[in-house]
Amino acid sequence: MSLGVDPGLQTGLELVRRPITATVLARTVLNRRLIRVTVSAPELDRFEYAGPDHLVRIFLPPRPGADLVLPQTERWWPELQDLPEASRPIVRNYTVRAFDPAARRMGIDFVVHGTGPGSTFARSASPGDRLGILSDGADYAPPQDTDWQLLVGDETALPAIAAIIEQLGPDDRAMAFLEVGDRDDELRIPRHPGVRIHWLHRGEARPGATDLLLRRLRETALPTGRAYAWIAGESSLVTSVRRHLVTERGLDKPQIYFCGYWRRMEV
Ligand SMILES: Cc1cc2nc3c(=O)[nH]c(=O)nc-3n(C[C@H](O)[C@H](O)[C@H](O)COP(=O)(O)OP(=O)(O)OC[C@H]3O[C@@H](n4cnc5c(N)ncnc54)[C@H](O)[C@@H]3O)c2cc1C
Repeated sequence: MSLGVDPGLQTGLELVRRPITATVLARTVLNRRLIRVTVSAPELDRFEYAGPDHLVRIFLPPRPGADLVLPQTERWWPELQDLPEASRPIVRNYTVRAFDPAARRMGIDFVVHGTGPGSTFARSASPGDRLGILSDGADYAPPQDTDWQLLVGDETALPAIAAIIEQLGPDDRAMAFLEVGDRDDELRIPRHPGVRIHWLHRGEARPGATDLLLRRLRETALPTGRAYAWIAGESSLVTSVRRHLVTERGLDKPQIYFCGYWRRMEV
């Protein structure tokens, strides 16, 4: 072991376990509801990108303009709780949408939806702003015997679903059901001959308040063969789609990955 170097910073694996400080390089408006924030950090050349739904926790200053204090060890959660509230960073979950290890850059697509800290950060991010990033790995893992994939989600799942589609092989087949506000919110996803995308528009309805995806799925004849389903978005949407797939479509629970990415609060 070399002396004088913090051993915890030597491997990508260790990097995974503690937050690093990143700096905003650019902010790009993708559409009315989606903003890409591109960040850089010297350690990103050792970041182990694990797959298209790679989760990162981002740490934001407790107030705009406040200092960013990051936990220093892999026991980051208890360490965070021990920080005085005034300096404790705010933590949110996001997906790595673009990653360039050589340039030490990462792009994260933020849904802007209200006054939450994640949204607010994305709206006003400017070059030089700092945030913390902690890698948490990926979950997308279609089994070898998968014949086709079903991808279902709202805007928060778009970064992962777009990345999933981009990494499909030429013979892969997938069907995607994506809920957005309206036509202008549809994302440009590179065409793949084996992928059929259904965009669903909620119009004036509030995000997380419709059953559009479930209804469309119920009406749709799904391909035969062994499916792998990846479902993410508002929590009740995700659980209702999963229940439909298990009880009405006969999918086994291990054929389904599902994750509530956010929860709609009643007002
Ligand atoms: C594994 C994982 C990956 C994720 N990847 C992404 C990603 O790449 N991009 C992304 O934008 N989000 C992603 N999310 C979802 C994101 O973490 C939540 O939307 C988060 O709540 C946003 O934080 P905030 O500070 O903006 O709002 P919060 O302070 O958490 O919430 C404030 C209010 O806004 C509501 N709210 C939260 N999210 C939304 C929304 N999308 N639309 C409408 N109302 C909302 C809440 O119900 C709450 O009432 C991911 C979540 C998980 C678990």
